[in-house]
Amino acid sequence: MTERQTVVVIGAGHNGLVCATYLARAGRKVLVVEAAAQPGGAAITREFAPGYRVSAVAHLLHLLDPVIERELALARHGLSYARSSLVNVSLSPGRPALSLDGGDVIAGEVSPADRSALQVHAARMQKFARVIARQHARVPPRLRFESWHDVLPAAAVALDIRLLGRKDMREFLRIATMNIYDVLEEQFEHAGIKGVLALDAVLGTRLGPRSGNSVYTALYRQSGSVNGRSGALALPQGGMGAVSNALVSAARIAGVEIRCGAQVEEIIVREGRATGVRLRNGEELRADRVVSNADPKTTLLRLLGARHLETEFARRVQQLRAVGTAAKLHLALSGRPQFRGLPAGLLGERLVIAPDLDYIESAFNPAKYGEFSAQPIMEVTLPSLHDASLAPAGHEVLSAVVQYAPYDLKGGWAAGKRPFLAAIMAVLEEHAPGIGALVQHAELLTPLDIEQQFGITGGHWHHGELALDQFMMLRPVAGAAQYATPVAGLYLCGAGCHPGGGIMGSAGRNAARVIAGGR
Ligand SMILES: Cc1cc2nc3c(=O)[nH]c(=O)nc-3n(C[C@H](O)[C@H](O)[C@H](O)COP(=O)(O)OP(=O)(O)OC[C@H]3O[C@@H](n4cnc5c(N)ncnc54)[C@H](O)[C@@H]3O)c2cc1C
Repeated sequence: MTERQTVVVIGAGHNGLVCATYLARAGRKVLVVEAAAQPGGAAITREFAPGYRVSAVAHLLHLLDPVIERELALARHGLSYARSSLVNVSLSPGRPALSLDGGDVIAGEVSPADRSALQVHAARMQKFARVIARQHARVPPRLRFESWHDVLPAAAVALDIRLLGRKDMREFLRIATMNIYDVLEEQFEHAGIKGVLALDAVLGTRLGPRSGNSVYTALYRQSGSVNGRSGALALPQGGMGAVSNALVSAARIAGVEIRCGAQVEEIIVREGRATGVRLRNGEELRADRVVSNADPKTTLLRLLGARHLETEFARRVQQLRAVGTAAKLHLALSGRPQFRGLPAGLLGERLVIAPDLDYIESAFNPAKYGEFSAQPIMEVTLPSLHDASLAPAGHEVLSAVVQYAPYDLKGGWAAGKRPFLAAIMAVLEEHAPGIGALVQHAELLTPLDIEQQFGITGGHWHHGELALDQFMMLRPVAGAAQYATPVAGLYLCGAGCHPGGGIMGSAGRNAARVIAGGR
C-alpha cells in the first residue's frame, strides 16, 4: 500500500483553507499552520471595542466563486447573508444623494441622457467582466508553448474575447488598456455617477482614475456575483469571519488539520526540493508538498530565501510592486449618524465618498509622493444596521475603506496616523455633521498595521499590485504563474497569484487542481 501524500499549507487565509479542503478531498493528508490566533487571514470578524464587532479588513463580499460556495457547501457550514445586494450611494455635501443599482438610478437627479448611458455602460461592463470572470477559474497559460496542453488555455482566452461579437470585442480591446477617467468622461455628465464608477476602479490599488490599467481593475471589481446576481455586494451575517468559519468547518469535515498560533519561520529545502517547514518554536514539520497562502514576497524571499532561487527569478520577485494604499476605519458609535441629503432608508447601503473624478485624482496625487490624502475617498458601510450581532442595542458600527494611505508614508505612520485620522474625521463630519460626538472608539488600520497584524507585505489588498504587468501568466511573476514555484514541491495559493485579491477562493482552488494533478 502507498502512503498518503502529506501537504503542509502555510496560512489559514480563505485561499489556504479552500486549497487545503480540495487537497484533502483529493486524498491528501493536509495540515494548515497559521501564525495568527484565529483562522481566516484578512477575512475575520473581531471585537475592536467592548461589545462592537467588525469585519477587520475585508468587509464586502462580492467575488466569492459561486462554484466554490456550492462545492464546499458553505451555506450548510453556516454562511448566510445579512444583506446580499447593497446599492451604491454617492455622497456629496452640495447635492442630494445619488443612488445607483447596477444600471438603474434609484434616487437622485439624473438627466435622461445619463440614465440611458448608465444602462448601456452597466450592461457592457457586465459583459466584459464575465470574460474576466471566466479566467478566474483557470490556471493561466504558460508564456512558453511546449505542448498542446500549453496552447489550449491561451486559445480559450482569445476565444472568450472573440465570442463577445465584433462590435463588443472592438470596444473591449479599445478600452481594456485605457484609464477609467477617459472612459467615463466619454459617457457621462453627472459627476456623482463618474465618481462612484471610478472608485471601483481604484479601490485596493495604487492607481488614480487617470492611471493606465484602471479599466481592467474596474472590470475585475465587477467580475463576481452573489446569489446569482452579477456585481452584487453582500454583507455576510456575522461579518466576513462567517465566510472563514464556514471554510474552516468544510475543511475539518474533509479531514484537514488546522493549527493556529503556529508561525512558519522557514521553508526547509533538501537537495533542491521543499521538504517541510520549521516553525518559530523550532518544531520541524515534514511534508511531500508545501503550499503557501502567504504573499509571494514573504514566501519566496523571507521563508524560502533568495539563495534557493535563480538570480533572475529572485530579482523579479523583489521587483513585485506591493505597496498598499488602503486603510480601514472602524467606529463604535453610540447612535445612528445622519448624512446630509441622505434619506434614512439608504443609510445601510454602500456610501461612497468620491463626489467626482477630480476629487479622486486629487486624493491620489499625494500618495505618489508618499503622503496621505488630506481629503480621502471612502467606501462606508454600517453593517450593524443589518446585523444586530455586531453592536450593542441602539449602537452602530461604521466600517470604511479609506484611500489613499501609502504604506511607505513619508515620516512614518507612528507620526502620521493621528493627523490622517483627523483628516478622515473632518471629511466624515462634513458629510455627517455630529458624527464625531457619537464616536465611542475609533480604530484605524494603516497598511503598516495590516502588514504587522495580518502578515501581508505592504498591507496590500491583492498581496501585490493588480496590473497588466502583474496579471495572469505574469502573476505573481513569470516562472510561478501556474502556482508551482521553481523549487520542486513548493507552491503558492494566495491572492498574490492569479487571479488576485478579494475574498474569492479561486487562487486556492486553482492551486489545489495543479497540485493534485488535475489541471
Ligand atoms: C483595507 C482592505 C480592505 C479590503 N476589503 C475587501 C473587501 O471588502 N472585499 C474583498 O473581497 N476583499 C477585500 N480586501 C482584500 C482581501 O482582504 C484579500 O485580498 C484577501 O483576504 C486575501 O486572501 P488570502 O487568503 O489570499 O490571504 P490572507 O487573507 O492574507 O491570508 C494569508 C494567511 O497566511 C498567514 N501567514 C502569513 N505568513 C505566515 C507564516 N509565516 N506562518 C504562518 N502563517 C502565515 C496569515 O496570518 C494569513 O492568515 C481588502 C483588503 C484590504 C487591505
